[in-house]
This record gives sequence, C-alpha cells and structure tokens, in this order.
Amino acid sequence: MTLHQLLQEGASSLARAGDTEAKLDARRLLLEAFHLDMTHFLMNRMQVLEQTRDVGAAADRYREMIRKRSRRIPLQHILGSQDFMGLTFRVNEHVLIPRQDTETLVELVLEEHKDRNKKVLDLCTGSGCIAVSLSVLGGFEDVTATDLSFEALKVAKENAERLLDQGRAIRFLQGDLFDCLETRFDIITANPPYIATGVIRNLAPEVRDHEPRMALDGDEDGLCFYRRIAAKAGEWLEPGGCIYLEIGYDQGLAVSRLLEETGFENIRIVKDTPGLDRVVYAEGGRNV
Ligand code: GLN
Repeated sequence: MTLHQLLQEGASSLARAGDTEAKLDARRLLLEAFHLDMTHFLMNRMQVLEQTRDVGAAADRYREMIRKRSRRIPLQHILGSQDFMGLTFRVNEHVLIPRQDTETLVELVLEEHKDRNKKVLDLCTGSGCIAVSLSVLGGFEDVTATDLSFEALKVAKENAERLLDQGRAIRFLQGDLFDCLETRFDIITANPPYIATGVIRNLAPEVRDHEPRMALDGDEDGLCFYRRIAAKAGEWLEPGGCIYLEIGYDQGLAVSRLLEETGFENIRIVKDTPGLDRVVYAEGGRNV
C-alpha cells in the first residue's frame, strides 16, 4: 500500500458521495492523518508503506475521516479549524465556518480605521473571526463581541485566548444583538444570518445539514436581522460612528434602503474580490 493508493481510494469514495473537491479534500485528510507536510507527501507517495502499528493507526484515522467527509460533514469540522485573515480559527458545529467573503469586511475596517482607541462592537460574532482579526491585525484595544449562542461564545473565547497577545482581551457577552450592552461604540460590525428561510433547503449539504441554522436563517426574506440592527444601531453608536454589515450578493439595495429609512448617511455598498456586493457601510442612524 502506498500513500498514492490511499489517496485514490479516499478520493473516489468522496467523489461518489458528491464531494466536488474530492481529490483536494482526500489529500488534506491524508496529510492530517499521517501528520505529513506536502513536500514529504509528494516525495514519498509512491513508496510502499511499512506495515508498522503507527502506519496502521494513521490509515485507520484517514479512512474514518473519509467516512465522515462522505457524509458531507464539512472538512473544517473534521479538521477542527479554518484559516481566516491568515489566522487559524477553531471551529465546530456551533459556529459558522469563517468564509473568505467576510475577509472583505475585515479588510475594509482595517483600511479605514487606524486609530486603535476606537471602540469596536461585533454582533453575531460566531467563531469570533471578525472581532479577533480586528483585535489582532488592527490592534483595536477595546473590542466587544456578542452572540445569542452560548456554545458559539465558547468557541469565540477560545479563539481569542489562542490568538490574542498576552494581556489583551475581547469582551464577550451573550445576548440578542444589542440586549447585553451598556456603552456606545465607534464601529459596529456584523455578519448576521442572512439567508432567506426558503433558500436554506437548496444549500450544499455541508452548509444545510451541518452548519448552525441560527447562524444562517435570516427569516422569510433574509433581511430580519438588518431590520433589527438598522432600527437599533443608532442608539449604540458614538457621534460620527459607523457600521459595516456583511450582506448576501443580492441584498445591497434592500439593506441600504433599510439603513436610509432609519437615518443612516453616507451609505456605500462594497464589493468582494469576485465582484459581488458584500458589505454595506453607513454612518449615523437614529433610534427608532
Ligand atoms: N455567506 C454564508 C453562506 O453563504 C452565509 C452567512 C450568513 O448568513 N451570515 O453560507
């Protein structure tokens, strides 16, 4: 048996299960199970493996991971992590897996705000990927992050503890959007649930069956959380404060309109790398 044969075996199981990245996923799992780096794999993949107990255990680990992935469990849940903004975040079934789309929002805030004293609030923080990236890469000293899910906050806290420098911390609060807050902020960010309920059944099984519904479901029209955020955010912003909301590619106009109706100004829609509407920016807002 060679690593190459194991790879072929795993990749064909995954392809049969409908995994569109069968070969890449199988290779990633093989490297993980055998604790190999890519160079070692490429140089040794045709060598017949010794039949030691360690090799047997690694092959068992690999086949078990292939079985899981064949059930369309996301690769990130099997590996337990996802890279985002160059940082490795722990993930599990209680948090949305950080998406590259969301890097657009983080990059925008980093580009537009160099003052580390600005107070930042991240709503629906999930894994904490936005809050932690802003703290680590932007150096923001005062970051608060909220989520309704206690289990998500556990993951976010663990990520903060692992990734923030010693002596730095993020304030994590459990609550429904602004419920648990007491002070105002200069910057509010959010990647709220924004998929319309009826669309969820058409998503890939990885997302539909394994990612938390409460992180995805934006109610009938997908806009429920934007409505609630637009109505309340003004109350929680310092004068001159601003908000950055991640949106679905077709929600730019609807979300801009919601913000306009609640007194926000200088509204901008920002595109992601593939050129789709991805973030809405706005300033001000009033309490309605
Ligand atoms: N972008 C995510 C997806 O397409 C959805 C994220 C969200 O609802 N906030 O699965």
